[in-house]
Amino acid sequence: MSRIAFIGLGIMGAPMAGHLVRAGHEVTGYDVVPKGLDALVAAGGTAADSTAEAVSGAEIVVTMLPQDEHVESVYFGDGGVLANAKPGTLCIDFSTVRPETSIRVAEAGRERGLRVLDAPVSGGEKGAVDAVLSIMVGGAEEDFEAARPVFEAVGKTFERVGGSGAGQYVKAANQLIVGGTYALAAEAIVLMEAAGVDAKAGLDVIAGGLAASRILDIKRDTMLRREFQPGFRIDLHHKDMGIATAAARSADVSLPMTAQVAQLIAAARAKGYGSLDHSALLKVVEDLSGR
Ligand code: NAD
Repeated sequence: MSRIAFIGLGIMGAPMAGHLVRAGHEVTGYDVVPKGLDALVAAGGTAADSTAEAVSGAEIVVTMLPQDEHVESVYFGDGGVLANAKPGTLCIDFSTVRPETSIRVAEAGRERGLRVLDAPVSGGEKGAVDAVLSIMVGGAEEDFEAARPVFEAVGKTFERVGGSGAGQYVKAANQLIVGGTYALAAEAIVLMEAAGVDAKAGLDVIAGGLAASRILDIKRDTMLRREFQPGFRIDLHHKDMGIATAAARSADVSLPMTAQVAQLIAAARAKGYGSLDHSALLKVVEDLSGR
């Protein structure tokens, strides 16, 4: 069992940290917002007053932060991970950020004797709560093996997909599929409701056929009820589509559907839906149809 520092106890991080406590690890957490710290303490972990305090005694540092700027400040800042973790510490960044950010963190970590993995996840809040996340890992093979007990505690499917940054490219590929699936599920709902058919029965039968998906399984009822509390915020998916389109540009490929979905998500954000769940793409498709 390991001493683990967990930085970023939000929608995903709080339940993940709880699973690590239940797996027998000694977890010390830090978040700028108290809510996640209270959840960690209730689960049997310890609250720290800063990132520096949390990571100084840790063998493993786990981060689950919203965006690139948060990862940069938590790793590179004065009171951050690189300045305070002891050499040999294994750092696992579960955040979704640009591949370039993960590569910079890994290189800077290596210079200080730290071992860094990028390990973005898929599965949503439910996947975090149920400890069945899919984890796409970039970094050295031996570090991946060392991180296995952490992945086993929070996830079900995990693969090393290449060196530093590789996990983020796979996560970008994941997010374009997720965004596209939500967009088309929204269009399917708008079509069925406008045509006056029973959309609930329609989605139930669709979910039993070739168009079945995890998204239809876990979100079709809340979408039909127009319940859009996150979950996964539109703002974060907007960030992820930016990562995907930038990755497409640097890989010199054309991803036309990704570009369309990115614009739909940008519209959702521009309309003020940024803090709603990404299933709120349905509201944009409804607006486009005057409904
Ligand atoms: P969130 O905003 O709920 O949680 C992030 C937490 O980080 C917050 O509690 C915030 O206070 C904390 N934080 C920010 N800056 C900090 C700092 N400097 N020091 C300490 N804590 C700090 O976000 P989330 O939904 O948990 O997502 C986290 C990451 O996981 C994102 O990169 C997101 O894209 C990714 N992700 C989210 C989901 C999902 O369904 N929510 C699914 C897969 C991946």
